[in-house]
Amino acid sequence: MTQPNNAAFLRLSGIGKTFQNRTVLQSIDLDIAPGESLCFLGPSGCGKTTLLRMIAGLETPDAGQILLADTDITLLPPRSRNFGMVFQSYSLFPHLTAGQNVAYGLRCRKWDRATTRRRVREMLDLVQLADHVDKLPSQLSGGQQQRVAIARALAVEPRVLLLDEPFSALDAKVRGQLRADMRALQRQLGLTTILVTHDQEEAMAVADRIVVMNGGRIEQVGTGPEIYHQPVSTFVGHFVGEMNILRVRADDQGRVLLGDRALVLGEPQAAGVAQIAIRPESIRIDPEAGCVNHFPATVVQSRFLGKQTRLDLSLDGQSLLVDVYGQRDRVFKPGQVIPVHLPPEEIRFIGAV
Ligand code: ATP
Repeated sequence: MTQPNNAAFLRLSGIGKTFQNRTVLQSIDLDIAPGESLCFLGPSGCGKTTLLRMIAGLETPDAGQILLADTDITLLPPRSRNFGMVFQSYSLFPHLTAGQNVAYGLRCRKWDRATTRRRVREMLDLVQLADHVDKLPSQLSGGQQQRVAIARALAVEPRVLLLDEPFSALDAKVRGQLRADMRALQRQLGLTTILVTHDQEEAMAVADRIVVMNGGRIEQVGTGPEIYHQPVSTFVGHFVGEMNILRVRADDQGRVLLGDRALVLGEPQAAGVAQIAIRPESIRIDPEAGCVNHFPATVVQSRFLGKQTRLDLSLDGQSLLVDVYGQRDRVFKPGQVIPVHLPPEEIRFIGAV
């Protein structure tokens, strides 16, 4: 029977890991669909590399199971998984040419010479390096070396491609280009891919779904827009982009108050003291009179950031960042009071403190 497209291809179930009495991964459950591009995103030390290494077979979980198309592969050695891996350091063999590096895995698998040669050409073509087949890694730029590493990982027709911070050693421009090319390639090949990164922009650029990790646990799984617009926790809100978190409270008539003014929320709220989240770019200044959620805020400082001016405001003693676009010549002086508008539909209720 053919699997429906959204069925789990790779399934992590109850994964846990402890190193020297320190729990680094706890109760990780995750389903990855065939052809999906997934990112593990989180701060340094949250366990994302350890989780990727477990999927690769380079690390063994203390608890839980890894299933590939319903087969338990938890204890299967790496070479029997047929997964491709690309690391941060290009990890090419320095004494082998680009072509020989790509051919390496095929030789190990005893592919014949003619088929290997054809495959190497095809792979170097795919990463736009057909003209560099005879060059040594030392004759290639960092970006080109990483393209060879990707071609080498793809050559063996991996069932899953695993990438650990593959672009972080590259400068911003090359990184952006390689990311875009990698995403196009992944879509073209329909390849199930997992990429580890601590860079939210990278996660947004390459992933169908992002897994935000914190302290060995999954905080949230969702598409880029879901993670950005509907963070489930203050951690996710702060980690992905800039986020204002404001304390609010409910009065005895069930109204939500910000300071001593009523606040209208776009989604149903729970009772009790709680927090709301709103992005700096979602807040408007100088609203029309009479609109809801209209508050006076005091300028603490302003910074010109090129595309926008970022205002650091104080609203009833709480700090509020606001991004103002298209008012290049306007001067915001510390101490100046400006009215701000918090659109209800842009406010996310984060829950009780
Ligand atoms: P980074 O982005 O810094 O690589 P990460 O989120 O990938 O961080 P991991 O490399 O998975 O985090 O490490 C998670 C925790 O486990 C860290 O505290 C790390 O020091 C620890 N750790 C990882 N591997 C080992 C090991 N082999 N022995 C002991 N501790 C380890």
